[in-house]
Amino acid sequence: MIATARKMNTAGLNQGTSGNLSVRVEGGFLLTPTGMEYDALVPEDLVLMRFDGSHEGRRRPSSEWQLHRDLLAARPEAGAVLHAHSMFCTTLACLRRGIPAFHYMISAAGGSDVRCAPYATFGTPELARSALDALEGRKACLLANHGMLALGKDLPGAFKLAVEVETLAAMYWRALQVGEPVLLDGAEMERVIDKFKTYGQQPGPGDEQR
Ligand SMILES: [Zn+2]
Repeated sequence: MIATARKMNTAGLNQGTSGNLSVRVEGGFLLTPTGMEYDALVPEDLVLMRFDGSHEGRRRPSSEWQLHRDLLAARPEAGAVLHAHSMFCTTLACLRRGIPAFHYMISAAGGSDVRCAPYATFGTPELARSALDALEGRKACLLANHGMLALGKDLPGAFKLAVEVETLAAMYWRALQVGEPVLLDGAEMERVIDKFKTYGQQPGPGDEQR
């Protein structure tokens, strides 16, 4: 977790101490502490949280603990949640614009767009509800005037998706400087999503060579 948190710095996902990470564990989840530099983190700084909101450890949890708790509770397929105020996702989120199907890789987030969740104050149950709605059928969303969220089946999955979505946000932002990007239609996005179901899968032992 600490290695991934530090990778968020080098990948340009973090602005200051604004990002946070959670990983599902037996009986609850581990969460990064509030307001600490990732470079200074040691394993004892991670906070063990339960779904009732109680926590264990020497540090106070991230102020977004409810967001992590509610997402992990509502999305059993998710093993990790990454939240960041990354530059390009947050730029679009401040315009309250999601990312449409301007590039086929948008399907990495689970569908034909990445929605922008309506604004709610940070650290509130309202923000968690708003994010949950925007994540319906998706693995990533933007948070209006705030940042972005990515879900993964594990931590590397959430990290990889966050980097992908931030890259797409940067491309979309650049395209908007020149004109109005041409969007892929629904039928093409269905084709892409279908193709991704088998893309990159190597045959396993016993599988026929294809
Ligand atoms: Zn935040």
